[in-house]
Amino acid sequence: MHSPSTENLDLLCSVLYNVAMRRRNIKRFRLEPLCELMATLGQNTYRAEQIFQWIWQKNATDFAAMTNISKAFRNSLSQKFTIQGLQKRTVKTAHDGSQKYLFRTNDSKYVESVFIPEGKRKTVCVSTQIGCPVQCAFCATGRMKFSRNLRAHEIADQARIVQHDTNTKVTNVVFMGMGEPLLNLQETLGAIEINSSPIGLSISQRHTTVSTVGILQGMRTLLNAPFKVKLAISLNFADENVRNEMIPVAKNNPLKEVLQIAKEYSRTKSMVTFEYVMIKNLNDRLRDARLLVSLLKDIPAKINLIPYNEHPLMPYKRPSDERIGQFYNYLLTAPQTVTLRKSRGQEIQAGCGQLAAFHVVKKK
Ligand code: SF4
Repeated sequence: MHSPSTENLDLLCSVLYNVAMRRRNIKRFRLEPLCELMATLGQNTYRAEQIFQWIWQKNATDFAAMTNISKAFRNSLSQKFTIQGLQKRTVKTAHDGSQKYLFRTNDSKYVESVFIPEGKRKTVCVSTQIGCPVQCAFCATGRMKFSRNLRAHEIADQARIVQHDTNTKVTNVVFMGMGEPLLNLQETLGAIEINSSPIGLSISQRHTTVSTVGILQGMRTLLNAPFKVKLAISLNFADENVRNEMIPVAKNNPLKEVLQIAKEYSRTKSMVTFEYVMIKNLNDRLRDARLLVSLLKDIPAKINLIPYNEHPLMPYKRPSDERIGQFYNYLLTAPQTVTLRKSRGQEIQAGCGQLAAFHVVKKK
């Protein structure tokens, strides 16, 4: 039997203390519920805004730091509430400057995010679930056992901690880390609300991208929601049979309907991006390129080609540069703008579909 480390013992003691004191984590409250909570405590709405700003903009982890709130009320808050979020565990930096963060949740689970600085653009790729229930065949995250959905504050905490840690204003957030954001839609929307609030992280919704493998119900909700975020669809396979085989949920989310909503999203909200991860001998031939062009012919969109990031746990390979070049050149005949994504952070497994699995699987 293992004896618990000091760190785990501290965590256990703090959990037991909070349970005994019945203290609730105030970070779980979004702004509106926080205003309601303050009203029940006989406080004004602006008090909720002050607390929200202290937590999300000024990185307060203790009520004592909230110096524009009376000492008596701060003491009363700390008797009833805690401020608990993700804990940074490790940061790995790649040669190209991208950084992979490993965080621990309060229930001792692990989640990863990637910071990608590119000139003025400072992007954080965040996770929305621990593991992923979709289990795409080519994705290392899909190999992990799905554990649970992340809460809004745990999703927002990833960008907040990276911003604080790197002392850099995060300009963009992409929901492309571990998990399928549209299978955890309400918490994802909650995180967008915290991220984009002027008293939160102040990251524009227009610089926020939600990526999905094509979950119809979530796409419809996002289409009709009052959010101005961008939508990226991980299409990856133009051949529906291969797609159904590689992405298990695709069978219940037919391509025709996915493309219809994508068209509507481009028309009414913002231009959709189709992500296409190129995998050697699976979807990298010229006939796949032809199929892709014909499939998307009526849809105003961007197409982003992403050469597969190889992962030690996965059997799939990146196509040769020549194959990638041929495919890309054929796509230039399409009406859409086509980009070929540079690989970032390859040596630290920071690519799309590579998050967390390596750490967790290695531990077993
Ligand atoms: S590609 Fe995305 S949806 Fe598919 S298993 Fe990986 S994280 Fe989940």
